[in-house]
Order: sequence, then C-alpha cells, then structure tokens
Amino acid sequence: MAKGDRRRFMASMLAAVDAWPELAGCPLCAKGSVKFVYYGHAVTRIGYLWSWCDACLRGVSISRAAAPEHVPLVPFGSESGAGAPRYAEIKR
Ligand SMILES: [Zn+2]
Repeated sequence: MAKGDRRRFMASMLAAVDAWPELAGCPLCAKGSVKFVYYGHAVTRIGYLWSWCDACLRGVSISRAAAPEHVPLVPFGSESGAGAPRYAEIKR
C-alpha cells in the first residue's frame, strides 16, 4: 500500500456518504465502488463507520462516527449484524 492511500480512500468515503445512494468509485483500484455501513446507537446515531471497496476489499474503520440523517444506520444489537465483509484496513 502506498503512503496517502488512507487519506485518498477517506476522501472517497466521505464523497460516497454525501452522495448516497449514488456510488463513489474506489480511488485505489479504480474498479470497485466504495461501500459503507454505519453501526451505531439508534437515537444518537453515533457509532462505527466501516467503509470498504467491493472490488479490492480494502477500507477503513472509524469509531465515534456520527451517521448523517440521509443514510441508513444499522442499530447496535441488530440480529443481522452490520453487514460489512472482511476487508483489509488501509493503515497509511
Ligand atoms: Zn478498490
């Protein structure tokens, strides 16, 4: 992984959140789309944000993220789980 990948991916992740339900492309492989899921408290909408590329399966995880009102939130304790696949954390 190249230095700056994390920063570039996070910029696309924020674009994907803003544009939801429209998709944003992965800046690392240019093949996949940036997916994300918020898993958090149903009322405060604060929790985890997991975001990954559905092609290269690289991504980032963020804690204490606040889910905007226009995107879905999977509430803590949901029986179906958060729905994120295994992916490699982009470290830098
Ligand atoms: Zn990718």
